[in-house]
Amino acid sequence: MPTDRTAAGPNPGDTGTARPIVHYGEPVLHTPCTPVTAFDAALAALVEDMFASMYAANGVGLAANQIGVDARVFVLDCEDADGARTVAAVVNPVLILPPPPRELMVGDEGCLSVPGVFTDTPRAATAVVEGLDPDGHPVRIEGTGTLARCLQHETDHLDGTVYVDRLPAKTRKKMLAEAGLR
Ligand SMILES: [Zn+2]
Repeated sequence: MPTDRTAAGPNPGDTGTARPIVHYGEPVLHTPCTPVTAFDAALAALVEDMFASMYAANGVGLAANQIGVDARVFVLDCEDADGARTVAAVVNPVLILPPPPRELMVGDEGCLSVPGVFTDTPRAATAVVEGLDPDGHPVRIEGTGTLARCLQHETDHLDGTVYVDRLPAKTRKKMLAEAGLR
């Protein structure tokens, strides 16, 4: 279940260490991540480091390969279209989109791995992710708004796709140049 980071008790990332964010062009970001098979202390520690890294970078989502780790897991802390907040770590996520023709939303999208730039990116207006929590229990997250965008963006990362890969080549080149990556 998503947890409320404002609730009493330890917050996600409190025991983790913020690691450097990997930038576009590093092979780990352009390769599908390996599914997780061990729900152990090492996975729990990785998730803590991912939350710490995401919060340190002021992100709303982070995939494991963004800190250089080849593991199919992402974390997020963002709001849906109604402002309801979800904080979650999802292991081996599967993205489920409405069947076409599906409603699209166009809005600003950015990525910690392409720092400092944002651009309008079309996405499905609603999205669902099913997977496991770090203890191996089933989780299902239904999202609208930023949460829907985040679910699609982070699952993309684990498939080796950075959102700028979905944009026209000319736009992508301009954005990578603006981010100082080309
Ligand atoms: Zn990203």
